[in-house]
Amino acid sequence: MSFQCPVCKQSNSLKITHSLELLPDSRSDEITLQVVACIECGFEGTAVYEASRRGHAESWEHTGYKTPADQLHELKNLINQCPAPQTPKCACPAHQALNQHNKGGRWLLPVQLANNQPFPMILHWQSVSGDHDDGAR
Ligand SMILES: [Zn+2]
Ligand SMILES: [Zn+2]
Repeated sequence: MSFQCPVCKQSNSLKITHSLELLPDSRSDEITLQVVACIECGFEGTAVYEASRRGHAESWEHTGYKTPADQLHELKNLINQCPAPQTPKCACPAHQALNQHNKGGRWLLPVQLANNQPFPMILHWQSVSGDHDDGAR
C-alpha cells in the first residue's frame, strides 16, 4: 500500500514504516498510529487511521502529519519498544502513552502531534503487478 507524498508529490512513494493499533474510543472502532516515509525524497511523518462501523455506514479517516524530526524519533522509539503492535490491548509503555482519552472517551492525539500540520493521505490505487505496458500484443 502506498500513498502520495505531500512534499515531492509522487503518487506512490509514501509508505507506512511503523504502525501501532490502539484501543477503540467513543467514535472509532479502529485507531492506528503510523509512521510514514517517502522512498523518493526521504520525507518522514506520522499518520492516523481511524475507522468506524457504527450505525449503517462504514466511515474512515486517514490523515498525515508533518512531524518534527525529534518528535518523530520519540514516536518511533516508542513504537519499536512495543512487543505487540497489532494488539490494541497491549499494556506496554508505548500503548500506555498513546492510548490516552479525554473525559468523553475520545482518543487524544499524541502530544508529539499536537501542533503538527496535517496533510491528506491519498491512496495510490494502481496495481503493482504491471506497468500497464501492453505494447507487445
Ligand atoms: Zn517525497
Ligand atoms: Zn504495546
